[in-house]
Amino acid sequence: MADFLFEPQAPASVPIARGGLFAVRRIYCVGRNYAEHIREMGNDAREPPFFFTKPADALLIGGADMAYPSQTSDLHHEVELVVAIGADGRDIAGADALSHVYGYAAGLDMTRRDLQAVAKKAGRPWDMAKGFDHSAPIGSIEPASAIGHPVQGAITLHVNGQERQRGDLAEQIWDVAATIAELSRFVALKAGDLIMTGTPAGVGAVVRGDVLEGTIAGVGTVRTRIV
Ligand code: MN
Repeated sequence: MADFLFEPQAPASVPIARGGLFAVRRIYCVGRNYAEHIREMGNDAREPPFFFTKPADALLIGGADMAYPSQTSDLHHEVELVVAIGADGRDIAGADALSHVYGYAAGLDMTRRDLQAVAKKAGRPWDMAKGFDHSAPIGSIEPASAIGHPVQGAITLHVNGQERQRGDLAEQIWDVAATIAELSRFVALKAGDLIMTGTPAGVGAVVRGDVLEGTIAGVGTVRTRIV
């Protein structure tokens, strides 16, 4: 054991659907990757998407309950396709990008929308709006070797059985390959990185007691209950 002052935290991890754990290094997120969602938030759909991050230990796995977070009264759901990176790379060409993907999962980019609105107005960072504890519920990861690379298919979010969000992966402004290529121009990607690829239209608030279920055709589901 190295001379650590205290025992280091175990790495954040996500179950792999067919067994084993995917150790997580970083979580990158794409903002404004579906035109309908850009419009519902009052933004300009001609502007390109962009990146922000969440801490790796913001993940919430196994369908666990999510405690309603502090400092908000407007907690929003955003269902997203999550890409799990399995091979390192930087300045990755679009044509090579999918070879860096280990697999895919359904995830939720939970957002303190009221704090985000304040941050936007003040030109401040989004960290406290996006990167809080348990802000990233995620389902199990399906290896691309089993399911392929989904480029189309429904992405939906139900709250208490009622549909709130619906889109199609084919509507992404940056598809998975383009997202990996673009992100790898800014940072070196490494095995263990996750990329949340943005949410379709229909985002909205949830309250304690609500059960959220996100589903991506051909990929899987993510489920949590707000308590
Ligand atoms: Mn999002």
